[in-house]
Amino acid sequence: MTPEETLRYSRHFLFRHIGRKGQLQLKDSRVAIVGAGAIGSMLANHMARSGVGYIRLIDADQVETSNLQRQVLYTEADAEAHLEKAVAAKTHLLAINHHIEVDPRVARITSDNAEENLTGVDLILDGTDNLEARFIINDVAVKNGIPWVYAAAVGSRGMMFPFIPGRSPCFHCLFPPSQMEGPAESCDAVGVISPAVAVVASLAATEAMKILLGDEEHLIRHLRHLDLWRGEFGELKLGKARANCPTCGLHEYPFIA
Ligand SMILES: [Zn+2]
Repeated sequence: MTPEETLRYSRHFLFRHIGRKGQLQLKDSRVAIVGAGAIGSMLANHMARSGVGYIRLIDADQVETSNLQRQVLYTEADAEAHLEKAVAAKTHLLAINHHIEVDPRVARITSDNAEENLTGVDLILDGTDNLEARFIINDVAVKNGIPWVYAAAVGSRGMMFPFIPGRSPCFHCLFPPSQMEGPAESCDAVGVISPAVAVVASLAATEAMKILLGDEEHLIRHLRHLDLWRGEFGELKLGKARANCPTCGLHEYPFIA
């Protein structure tokens, strides 16, 4: 580690769950962030500042003016230039921390490209805004034994949970598609406030750090949910993995088959 890095990460060295050893682990870590929108750009910001050595950012969209209300990485100039989010994010992340590697991929995750874009990493972070992508992430994660952190925000509400293959039920166990009724509420329909995004992404980034540092003991056990406008925070006890789950029980991986 260079003298500049020693200075940069001095507050991590002091934090007893990280220290110098943990910082080297973060530097050796590789994460993929799916979506570089509101939650994704906040996650990328946390990962870059924390010194995670390799960050892959997957997003097909361009920066728009309506993103600036909550997508912390972007500027008015990015929106005026119609820059791709993954590309603009790389510029800003490297300006924050030039010690890391940022791998921008201008793509939308599909069943066909998911495995090539989501493997070769220690952890996948969910910055998507739709269920379809989460089922795809979950299939890749379970099939390849990669942990992933689910994070979602809409309105002033949010949910977050770290899925560790083999340790917890998977996303498909908890949210069987057959039981999902009607279209999910979306930010395009009901809006979203920036603080809700920031809190959910920060909770997810903290679980991400624990996973990368191997601190299983402190990983949360229950699904976190919150409503910032009401000032409510809660947790939901999760059931067991389902033996007939097509993803983690039967290993059929229907969303990437
Ligand atoms: Zn499952």
